[in-house]
Parts: sequence; structure tokens; C-alpha cells
Amino acid sequence: MSRSDDLFNRAVKVIPGGVNSPVRAYGSVGMTPRFVEGATGPYIFDADSKKYIDYICSWGPMILGHNNQDILKAVIRKAESGLSFGAATEIEVEMAEFICENIPSVEMIRMVNSGTEAVMSAIRAARGYTGKNKIIKFAGCYHGHSDALLVKAGSGVMTAGVPDSAGVPAGCTQDTLTAVYNDLESVKALFEEFSGEIAAVIVEPVAANMGVVLPAPGFLKGLRDICTQEGSVLIFDEVITGFRLAFGGAQEYFGVQADLVTYGKIIGAGMPVGAYGGKREIMEMVAPAGNVYQAGTLSGNPVAMAAGITQLKILKEHPEIYTHMEETGKALFGGMERLLKETGKPWTMNSIGSLGCLFFTSKKVENYEDAKASDTKAFAEYFQYMLEHGVHLAPSQFEAIFLSNAHTEETTQETLRIFEQFLRR
Ligand SMILES: *Cc1c(COP(=O)(O)O)cnc(C)c1O
Repeated sequence: MSRSDDLFNRAVKVIPGGVNSPVRAYGSVGMTPRFVEGATGPYIFDADSKKYIDYICSWGPMILGHNNQDILKAVIRKAESGLSFGAATEIEVEMAEFICENIPSVEMIRMVNSGTEAVMSAIRAARGYTGKNKIIKFAGCYHGHSDALLVKAGSGVMTAGVPDSAGVPAGCTQDTLTAVYNDLESVKALFEEFSGEIAAVIVEPVAANMGVVLPAPGFLKGLRDICTQEGSVLIFDEVITGFRLAFGGAQEYFGVQADLVTYGKIIGAGMPVGAYGGKREIMEMVAPAGNVYQAGTLSGNPVAMAAGITQLKILKEHPEIYTHMEETGKALFGGMERLLKETGKPWTMNSIGSLGCLFFTSKKVENYEDAKASDTKAFAEYFQYMLEHGVHLAPSQFEAIFLSNAHTEETTQETLRIFEQFLRR
């Protein structure tokens, strides 16, 4: 029995399902999870000291690769002055100034501790600002685990086969309307039916929690126009895409500006950080400037800020990182697509920049219904094969492959070699 198996046996006795976040349990691929001992660059090492090329990258935060020394040093230096004070610190101002200077749509920003909190708070601000209650989300988009958003929520929720969570009273989701990703008509229909009642439209500008689904040309711009016309707040949930598609996230990549943006993952560089920001007049609704209450004992934690701002500054100062990841993405995802063709497999590859997903379906994947048509048994075989041969993919059909700046030509060639073996086995 491996050490990971031992650890998992201990874990299931004292942690629900043995993990602190569901998708880590490998449930949807019918395995028990590998426990991680450490990581460096593009590699992780499990509890049995086996090495893997890692394509989870902590679900995005480790965009510079694991164990980046500049970030580590910044964290240690900051920690030496104390871990938390529950009072304002200079580095919080630096972080807010840095983001407001570099992200055009963000005039003010509030730091929180997770993506879930960022989205929950952004929605509260949008409701406070508009005085309206209803929100529109898209089927298959994940926005964290707050009650109102656990409706057709993709990701771990989808994998677990619990489309709507137990423990969420109907009252909490009665104002959550669901539209179809890439279908502007479905959004217009909701605006017609609930005219004057919709506070916000929230979207993952690239959906990355139902696999990876790209916005169709004109989709994001269409949402922008509808929200402007209807006086609703457009929220881009850039918890994955922020600082990834480009430094300015999806807003920069697609040239569409949201009213509010939520961040998480990369912004904390591996520390628990989220943030929401945007138009001054909306953000000034937030307490203590305004009467939309939102607070956090550890929000803006100096050690977490030190990690995040160090990573963001490196990304800002080195635009070649984005070129490198784009090229790695083209080589890896393009290479996988070529091998699918060569071996006559009908599966669908979706990708953009450093995000990719192999869907085990022969049809195009443009929304949640398409994604759900994937053969998850076939996915599980692929996952197992890749893992056994040293490639650590996300253990679910409905998650993304994440690249970092530390992935190289070498990791790409090795991954493609194993993928080809899998296809020809
Ligand atoms: C991960 C994620 C969240 C939730 O962030 P947590 O830090 O896990 O709470 C919200 N939205 C999107 C798009 C995400 O990918």
C-alpha cells in the first residue's frame, strides 16, 4: 500500500470524504487521491516521492510554477514582522494601488480571502447599488460555494452529481436565474420576463469549470450591451482568467469591460486571497464607505498580500511570460489535437492561451449541455493512464488543464509522448 493510500485511509476517518475540497478526492475517476509532499517548477512530488508533471498548478495560482523563490522570500520577509494585526497595513494600499493603476475597469478594490467570498460580496454590492434582487448566471459556470450560486454550478458540484446542493433553502436561490452560455437570446428572454428586476449578470468570461468553454465571438460584448441598456451590473468572474489570459485578464483579452470584476487564485500566488473591484460608484456602496456590509478578520492579510503582489509585479514586468505560456499552450494543446487526428479519435479539444481541456465527446463544446455529453468513463481511463505515467491532470472531465510559466518544451514533449501511448495502447 502506498503512503498516499495510508494517508487517505486516515483522512476519511476525520475529514468528510478525506479532503478539504471535493474534487481532490479523485471520486469521479474512481481512484484514491495522491497526497502531495512538495513541488517545484512544473513538477509535484507525491507522498511516495513519485514525480509528476503538474497541470493543476493549485487550480491556477501557481502561474509562475511551484515554489517560486521571489515569492517565497517576500512571504518570509513579511512574516518576520508578524502574521496578522487586524488593522490597516501599507501593503494593502500598495496592492490596491497596483491593481487600480493596471486594470482599467477597476477604480476601487476590496480584498477578501477566497474567490467564493469575492463573488458573494460583488453580488451583494451589485444588489445594493441597483436596489434589485435577481441575478443571472450561466449553467455550468462556477462562482464558488455560496448558497445563491449553487445552481447549475459546474466543477466539483457537477462531478459529485449534485447539481443543486442539499442544505440550500429554495429561498436562497429563488433570485438566481440561469441562462445558457454563449446564448444571448436566453439572456434577453430573462430580461424580458423579469424586466427591471435584474441586479447583475455574472459570467466566467472563459468558462473553466465545465472543462474549458470559450465565449463565442460577440457573446461578452453582447452581455455588456444588454447590461448597459438594462441598468444591470455586469460582473466578470475572473477568478481563473484574471492575470492569466493576459495581465488584464479577459477584459484585456477580449476588449470588453465589466462593471465589477472578481479575482482569486493567481492574485494570492498560493495564499488564500480573493478580491472584488470595479466602478467607484458601485464600490463606494461597500461598508464603511456605504451601507453594503462586508468584512473579514484576515482580509488583506499582509503575508498573503506579500505573496500576491510579488507575483502580480513579476507578471506585469515580464509580458514575455504570457507569450511563453501562449506558445506552450499551442504546442501542447495543438499537439494533442494533432495526435487525436492521427489516431482517428473523435474527441474535442478546447483551449485558449494557458487553459485547455480534452472533452470525450465528438461534438463541439459550446455550453454546459455539450460538456455534459462527454464520456466520463473514457475521461477516467485517460486520467489514470496519464497519472500512472507521471502526468498529474485535474481528476475530472469538468476541470481545466492549467499551464504555468515553468512548463517547457520538455514537459510538453514528455506529455505528448505519454498521451500518444495512451491513444495507441
Ligand atoms: C475557484 C473559483 C471560484 C471560487 O474560488 P475559491 O477560492 O475556491 O472560493 C469562483 N469562481 C471561479 C470562476 C473559480 O474558478
